[in-house]
Amino acid sequence: MIQDYFRKDLSDFESYNAGKIDYKVRLNANESFNNLGATTRKKLGRVIEDSIYNRYPDVESRNVCNLYAKYAKIENVNIMAGNGSDECIQIIAHTFLNNGDKVAMQSPDFSMYGLYTKVAGGIPIEFPLDEKLELDVEGFISMANKKEVKIVYLSNPNNPTGNIITRENIIKIIEGCKCIVVIDEAYFEFYGKTIVDKINTYDNLIVLRTCSKIGLAAIRLGFLITNKTLMEELKKVKPPYNVNSITQSIASVIFLEPELIHKNVEQILIERSYLWEKLSKIEGIKLYKSKSNFILVEVPNAKKTKERLIDQSINVRSFSTGKLENCLRITIGSREENNCLLKNITLDN
Ligand code: PMP
Repeated sequence: MIQDYFRKDLSDFESYNAGKIDYKVRLNANESFNNLGATTRKKLGRVIEDSIYNRYPDVESRNVCNLYAKYAKIENVNIMAGNGSDECIQIIAHTFLNNGDKVAMQSPDFSMYGLYTKVAGGIPIEFPLDEKLELDVEGFISMANKKEVKIVYLSNPNNPTGNIITRENIIKIIEGCKCIVVIDEAYFEFYGKTIVDKINTYDNLIVLRTCSKIGLAAIRLGFLITNKTLMEELKKVKPPYNVNSITQSIASVIFLEPELIHKNVEQILIERSYLWEKLSKIEGIKLYKSKSNFILVEVPNAKKTKERLIDQSINVRSFSTGKLENCLRITIGSREENNCLLKNITLDN
């Protein structure tokens, strides 16, 4: 049987299923609700027309990395571009993990940390957040060291809670954990605080960023930022030509006009305040503080609330088990989309 050649440890894996995408209101994937403006898209059209199609892309995406550094005000660091930060997470796992190596992460946190750990033959060790969905920092550090993990992944702000770990605590973790510490700042723009300035202070720190949340999810571009020593190791594993020429060109145009991103982020933050204020007035909903582009809410019966929203062609993210069973993660939408959600959200028991 052909299945005899398959990996036994993948038998219970499921392919990534983002679900149907033809909902009228899509508040499930933490994308930006704004597309790029018509003038910018026209400019990008010319860039695509002028592209060189017969040659491989720049293997190290140098121009786009330099422009990203400028946009993100990052100096003297080593940056690797990835096909989304997803790929960066995968590259980290494949660079550092041998079969049976352990990796620590919070629960809940971004699911790909666990998945790529397993695919690389590693063992994810989940550390549950407390009742308020906050991290017991000392407990986490001592668990990571006791289990002798090789990597720690933490998203900050956290997806799906929207909560943050303070800078002081992030530093405690980097200094306290005897392993590689990956701080995933996918939602940095909605929080404004970073640990990237400490890249050269610590030999075990990697920071991740993405363009997916700030209006460029379609082009698949993320960044890994770290010191020279770790970067040299990671480069051994990075697939060649992993970021295509069109993505590199498009991102280069956008990073030359950072106001485009700033304006978009500003609008998302305005809508976050609006949605928060309106949701907080609904009796029976519990909101979790968010420094991100989504709000996690707890309702009496998430399954039913989601079903009613789906009936109206509104999609939000739900969670099947665990602490988040009755939670929904609502991506910040446009004013119109937010009002549509507010009008249709019901709290059936
Ligand atoms: N990290 C976190 C915390 C995320 O929430 C996401 C996207 N959901 C990613 C990484 C992956 O982003 P990308 O689109 O860059 O692969």
